[in-house]
Amino acid sequence: MRFVLALLLCLTLPAHAEGFLTRLLNKPVPGGVAVVDLGNDASAPKARYDGKPVLVVREDDQRWIAIVGIPLTVKAGQHSLDVAGKAHGFRVEPRTYREQHITLKNQRQVNPNPDDLKRIERELDEQTRAYRQFSERQPSNLLFDKPVNGPLSSPFGLRRFFNGEERNPHSGLDFAAKTGTPIKAPAAGKVILTGNYFFNGKTVFVDHGQGLISMFCHLSQVDVKVGDELVRGAVLGKVGATGRATGPHLHWNVSLNDARIDPSIFIGAFKL
Ligand SMILES: [Zn+2]
Repeated sequence: MRFVLALLLCLTLPAHAEGFLTRLLNKPVPGGVAVVDLGNDASAPKARYDGKPVLVVREDDQRWIAIVGIPLTVKAGQHSLDVAGKAHGFRVEPRTYREQHITLKNQRQVNPNPDDLKRIERELDEQTRAYRQFSERQPSNLLFDKPVNGPLSSPFGLRRFFNGEERNPHSGLDFAAKTGTPIKAPAAGKVILTGNYFFNGKTVFVDHGQGLISMFCHLSQVDVKVGDELVRGAVLGKVGATGRATGPHLHWNVSLNDARIDPSIFIGAFKL
C-alpha cells in the first residue's frame, strides 16, 4: 500500500518545482489561465492556441512557460497547445459563474435601435482588431498593480440580465471609485486604441506585450493617445460613468491570445 501511495505521489508531482508565475497564474478554468511548461530550449518556443499566438516567458531564468488565456465559452476537459507542430496538453476544470440582475432606465441600452446596432457592430470590430494585435515585447510585470485604489465591485464572468433579458457575461472586473479618480497602467505598455463607445463609453486599450492587453472603460476623461508609451503606474485617464454604466466605476478587461479572462488572477485576488 505504501508503495502504491509513493508511486501515485511521483506521478502527480511536477517534474520540477513550480515557480512564482506558475503558482500565481495557473487557474485553468473557463475565463482563466493555463500555464504550460515548454521545457528549457535555448530560444523561446512559439506556441499557438486555437490558431492564435500565445504569451511565452521564461520562469526563474530556467524553463519556458506558455501563459494561455482560456475563453469563457471553452468547455472543461482536455485541451492542447500547438508548439512547432507538437501538441502540449492541458486540462480545463469547470467553474460556475453567478447571475447578476441589473435595471437600466435607458431601455435603448438594453435593446439598441437599428442605427445603434450598426454603430455597435463597427465598434466591436475595431475593438476585436485591437485585442488580436500581437507585439513581440515582453510584459514588464505579470503581477499587475491595481489600476485604481478602490474596492472590487462586480466580479468577472457574471451572467448578466439587463431589465430581465440575458446579455453577454461580464467580461472584466469592476472597481468602485469616484468620478475623477486617476487610473494607472498596471504594467508598462503602448496605447493601441482609444474611443468613445456605445457600451464601453470613453475607453483606452493598452498593449503590455505578446497579446496581453488591458482595456479600461467608462472613463470621464482620457489622458493618453494612440502610440503613447506608458511606464508602469502612468495615469491614462479618470474614472467616470460614460457608456452603459449605472454609476461611476472602472471596468477593466484583461485579454490574452484574444480571450477575455479574469483580471483578478493578475492582481493575486482570484477566488474559485
Ligand atoms: Zn464591468
